[in-house]
Amino acid sequence: MSLRGKTAVVTGSNSGIGLGVARELARAGADLVLNSFTDRDEDHALAEAISTEFGVVAKYVKADMSVGEECRSLIEAAGSCDILVNNAGIQHVAPIDEFPRDKWDAIIAINLNSVFHTTAAALPMMRAAGWGRIVNVASAHGLTASPYKSAYVAAKHGVVGMTKAVALETAQEPITCNAVCPGYVLTPLVEAQIPDTMKEYGMDRETVIKDVMLARQPSKEFATVEQLGGTVAFLCSSAATQITGTTLSVDGGWTAL
Ligand code: NAD
Repeated sequence: MSLRGKTAVVTGSNSGIGLGVARELARAGADLVLNSFTDRDEDHALAEAISTEFGVVAKYVKADMSVGEECRSLIEAAGSCDILVNNAGIQHVAPIDEFPRDKWDAIIAINLNSVFHTTAAALPMMRAAGWGRIVNVASAHGLTASPYKSAYVAAKHGVVGMTKAVALETAQEPITCNAVCPGYVLTPLVEAQIPDTMKEYGMDRETVIKDVMLARQPSKEFATVEQLGGTVAFLCSSAATQITGTTLSVDGGWTAL
């Protein structure tokens, strides 16, 4: 499982799943480039803390994944990129005929277009190094749909499709490309949906979690960011060398229903 000597770029990794993934890759020995669109002291402190905890090199690079050039400059700033985890993502919930155009554009840019830009920039580095792992954080919504999440569902289905296409383009190289599809994980992204859902259904927080969110997951449990991180680390390990073009669901059985 050792990823010692590899450099991993994880987009959107100053919170939630991205941070969990970064920590599990560092635990496996990978050096890290953490990222988000902010440039706060606490972002850089996060990288320092991971570096100290796991004895790896870790730095934080600000880059806005809604901007193609910034996606590409993130990879350049990394210097090398053996592992690319495309994780940055946002969500907005609205009926399609009321969906704000700017929200649609932002979701497609951050959740889908950024994966194109970072992958295109990272592949030459992986080819030069003779090894590469791309893991795209898609979603159960990359395989199934929900009403009012049209942009998110479209972007995540796009990520699943792009994952397969890139896997086929690199199938005869020592490079793999896979997607992980989480169900519900209680991160800031999901927390942000709870108040609106409480208002819409007239429910309290616990009922929203139990009857709206976890109702979709046969396990009746949230996955944790550590479990997501462990799944990504597995896909980067030598045990997963022949795994490419797959979507690995981490959803407590949601998509088995
Ligand atoms: P989160 O809000 O905690 O994390 C999102 C990350 O993306 C943050 O680090 C944020 O700073 C970053 N980000 C947002 N906009 C950005 C931009 N323009 N440029 C760079 N970084 C940006 O949410 P999360 O739940 O950890 O989401 C991570 C990924 O997992 C997303 O792609 C999301 O769609 C996916 N996902 C989450 C769940 C879930 O239940 N939490 C389920 C399925 C898929």
